[in-house]
Amino acid sequence: MENRLKPMDAEQLREYGHKMVDFIADYYKTIENFPVLSQVEPGYLRNLLPDSAPNQPDSFQHVLDDIQAKILPGVTHWQSPNYFAYHPSNSSVAGFVGEMLSAGLNIVGFSWIASPAATELEMIVLDWLAKMLKLPEDFLSAGQGGGVIQGTASEAVLVVLLAARDKVLRRVGKDALEKLVVYASDQTHSSLQKACQIAGIHPENCRLLKATSSTNYALSPEFLSETISQDLTIGLIPFFLCATVGTTSSTAVDPLLSLGKIAKSNGMWFHVDAAYAGSACVCPEFRHYMDGVEVADSFNMNAHKWFLTNFDCSALWVKDRSALVQALSTNPEYLKNKASQANMVVDYKDWQVPLGRRFRSLKLWMVLRLYGLENLQCYIRNHIKLAKHFENLIAQDPRFEVVTPRIFSLVCFRLLPVRNNESHGNKLNHQLLDAVNSTGSAFISHTVLSGKYILRFAVGAPLTEEKHVNAAWKVLQDKATSLLAESL
Ligand code: PLP
Repeated sequence: MENRLKPMDAEQLREYGHKMVDFIADYYKTIENFPVLSQVEPGYLRNLLPDSAPNQPDSFQHVLDDIQAKILPGVTHWQSPNYFAYHPSNSSVAGFVGEMLSAGLNIVGFSWIASPAATELEMIVLDWLAKMLKLPEDFLSAGQGGGVIQGTASEAVLVVLLAARDKVLRRVGKDALEKLVVYASDQTHSSLQKACQIAGIHPENCRLLKATSSTNYALSPEFLSETISQDLTIGLIPFFLCATVGTTSSTAVDPLLSLGKIAKSNGMWFHVDAAYAGSACVCPEFRHYMDGVEVADSFNMNAHKWFLTNFDCSALWVKDRSALVQALSTNPEYLKNKASQANMVVDYKDWQVPLGRRFRSLKLWMVLRLYGLENLQCYIRNHIKLAKHFENLIAQDPRFEVVTPRIFSLVCFRLLPVRNNESHGNKLNHQLLDAVNSTGSAFISHTVLSGKYILRFAVGAPLTEEKHVNAAWKVLQDKATSLLAESL
């Protein structure tokens, strides 16, 4: 059969591209009409789509109709102004057009020569962002360090863990793998545990130290010191500490300086995970939460969470890039080229797990250029103001309590248990969560802290305004009233 396919016809791209942009713009205009949390049942799509792919091409309009009728009902609308679950995952016009350009160019920038602009823009943009965050100069690309865009914070912690593991094994001998110990609080994101599993760290050597309400769920330096001492006495080798600025459950902030000093005095790698809260630290009034980052070996923040850069864009900086390269580089014949062989360039393939990589710096560059630091600071401050507003609303209703001090834009709260019955309280809050989310008018999520079932209200979607916060609070109050009446 004659080949009639013209998969990259410029005029077809123009036609479909314009239609798709219109479709997406209309989506954003009407986003509030959708239930925030998708209300479909598991497996819903099987019944709506054919069993196999078509033999003949379908029309673009037909596909768009199917998206509207069959796909959108199964979408949970992370960009809805009524989205208050987990952590935010921002989109923006700047991030979107950057992503579009990246899809348009579709390069695979594993080494400098594979697309010099991709590597060089990434280095420059991460230097810019490092300066916005006032990271120490050691993290800039001019010295021994530098930044790299990983897909996710999970990949970021994995690559630095691998770098740290290989660094210590070079010192103590590779047979010592089973003696290596990793430290963090039990509030640390589960991606650390996964990284340990991948890196071959023995599960019993992954110390997730209990953080309690007495420290607002931050890791205690004393507890860390004691645990390290005990491990040293039995011949183990402490080698990696992960601290968090803004934990996933409650946005707790670990005391970086004290923890980092302990790590350094024991020759350990010190990683700081600021996946969510790093964005807030571009504001001078929040930068102090990062104090102590001077002693860190690596620092990570997700620009795709709360910094208007469409998923995925996780910024990682290291002080010693050679540690990453030593752990992750390969040099096969088919990738050899003059610039790499002469050591004149950065080849980001050696800073990450996969070989292939997208031109992700374009979207971050667009965000920084089209918005500028001052607007980004206002954006963050506005969300924090809205979270404070929500906190005040809770304070006015004696049936509720705020459970941990609010630091950034997340409020952890709960409906107080009736007659101090904690287990009934947990059930009640679980029911409240389900009742609110099943309305489709707001989406919140939960966690458990010190055995208590807690509701999380995370402000951070780009379209959220005070009226949305007020509306969500009204739904929460109404549902609480019904549940309390039922439980009498
Ligand atoms: N670290 C923290 C503090 C997080 O809150 C999260 C996700 O919410 C992660 C790491 C993992 O992020 P990612 O999905 O980018 O791997």
